[in-house]
Amino acid sequence: MTRIAILGAAGRMGRTLIRLIAAADGLDLVGATARPGSDADGLDAGTLAGCGALDVRVTVSVAAAIESADVAIDFTLPAALIGNLEAATAAACPIVIGTTGIDADGNAAIDSAAASIPIVYAANYSSGVTLLQRLVRTAASALDSDYDAEIVESHHRYKRDAPSGTARALGQCVAEGRGVRLDEQATYAREGLTGERPAGAIGFQALRGGDIVGEHTVMFAGDGERIELTHRAASRETFARGALRAARWLTGQPAGRYDMEDVLGLRG
Ligand code: NAD
Repeated sequence: MTRIAILGAAGRMGRTLIRLIAAADGLDLVGATARPGSDADGLDAGTLAGCGALDVRVTVSVAAAIESADVAIDFTLPAALIGNLEAATAAACPIVIGTTGIDADGNAAIDSAAASIPIVYAANYSSGVTLLQRLVRTAASALDSDYDAEIVESHHRYKRDAPSGTARALGQCVAEGRGVRLDEQATYAREGLTGERPAGAIGFQALRGGDIVGEHTVMFAGDGERIELTHRAASRETFARGALRAARWLTGQPAGRYDMEDVLGLRG
C-alpha cells in the first residue's frame, strides 16, 4: 500500500487526484492540505473531492499532512513550493511536484531539496507529452534552424501562467535538439512592427479560453514544407494518473531529481 498526501487538495488537480486514489487499489490517502484561510480547512478530503468521506481531514499544515505519508504530491501554486519542499525535506518524504510557473529560485530549491530526498518534477505528467518531448528533441536535431520552430498552446480560461510549463519544456527540447540556449532564442508572442523573424528563434504563443484541458503543437516551418507535432489532453485525469504512477515509482528511489522520462523508463 502506498500512502499518499495531496498538497493543494481543493484545486482542480488535487480533487481529481483524491478521486483517483479513492478508486485505486494499493493507494491510500493519508493527508491533504489547503492554503491557509481556505474554506476547505477541516473538511473531509473525500467529501471535498466529491467521492464520499475518506476519514482524512484537510489541514493547512504540510507537516501534519505528510507525517504518515510514503510520498507527497504537490499541485498548488508557485508561492507554496518552497514551504512544501522544506516540510518534505524535514520529514524525509519523497515528493512529486506538478505545480507550474516555477521561477529560477523555485527551480534551485527543487535541486537543493533533491540532494536529500527523491523528487519528481514534470511540467506535464501525461505519457503522451513525455513522448512528444522526445519526438521534438529528435526533430529539432534532425532539422536545421532554417525550419522555424513555433510552439502554440491552448488552455482553459482559469490558467494563471503563460506560456504553459509544458510549452516551456517543449521549447527546452527544441533548444537541446539544436544545441542552443532557450533563454537566448525564445520569443514570447508578437505585436506591432516586430520586424522579420530572427533566424533560430523559438516562438511561443498562448491561447486561453473555455474549458480546454491542454493542447500543444510544435511546428517546424521550412521553405515548402511544415511539420507539426500535436498533443491534446481531453481530461485532467491523464495528468493525475501520470502523477500517481510517478508517486508509486518514487517511493523506491534514492535522493535525486527525476522527471517523467525516468518514471517511464525512457532514459538511456
Ligand atoms: P487550481 O488553482 O485549481 O488549484 C491550486 C490549489 O492550490 C488551489 O485550491 C489553491 O487554493 C491551492 N493552494 C495555493 N497555495 C496553497 C498552499 N500553500 N497549500 C495548499 N494549497 C494551496 O489549479 P490546478 O488546475 O489544480 O493546477 C495546480 C497547478 O498544477 C498549476 O500550477 C497548474 O499549472 C499545474 N498543473 C500541472 C500539470 C502537470 O501535469 N504537471 C497538469 C495540470 C495542472
